[in-house]
Amino acid sequence: MVINEIFYSLQGEGFLAGVPSVFVRLAGCPLRCQWCDTKYAWDETAGAEYSISEIVRAVQQWPCRFVVVTGGEPMIKPDLPQLVRELKTAGKHITIETAGITFIPNMSCDLMSINPKLSNSTPSDPAIASSHEASRLNLAALRDLINNYNYQIRFVVNSHADLEEISQILEKVGNVDPKKVMLMPQAATKNEMSAKSPIVAEMCKRTGFAFSQRLQILLWNNERGK
Ligand code: SF4
Repeated sequence: MVINEIFYSLQGEGFLAGVPSVFVRLAGCPLRCQWCDTKYAWDETAGAEYSISEIVRAVQQWPCRFVVVTGGEPMIKPDLPQLVRELKTAGKHITIETAGITFIPNMSCDLMSINPKLSNSTPSDPAIASSHEASRLNLAALRDLINNYNYQIRFVVNSHADLEEISQILEKVGNVDPKKVMLMPQAATKNEMSAKSPIVAEMCKRTGFAFSQRLQILLWNNERGK
């Protein structure tokens, strides 16, 4: 597998925010979201080739039970089930972070952290906007993910206007537990995070969805590998 980076930090987002975790970032993502904060991992070749056992050994250099497999987009990787199997054999708690654009069954991951992309993620470059629009939402895959895994769904929001789109997606997917839905501010810097957090907090109060922290921005201003 092509590994973009492996590092030890705190989970910054979702219900496990604050939990020390080892991050395994796989290279490659087809979506090209306009506000993506890991553009350096878009290319399939953006990293070094590791065998599964080399990945597990690298993860084990830190005495940490929590592992986050992220990207890029991990769910497009054919070797992902084997990686998950071997991390589980090594006794790890595994979160997979995915945009929810595809489904793989029967993985022993502990938390499927799904981040479906709203239209606010569509790139302004028309050359890539149409392929992004065509693939950013896969309702069947979202249904399969929530029906087969322990999950959380996090939406990146820009403004109140995103709420209508979120409700429509949740309605179309169906069977989503609202207690597992989180909203998080679209932000790349501490200043943006501070400016948008009160807006998102109000949206959470109105809907009952939880607010997702983004500790990697607050603590390290999104510095890579922190
Ligand atoms: S799906 Fe995630 S990794 Fe891929 S472009 Fe969008 S934000 Fe970036």
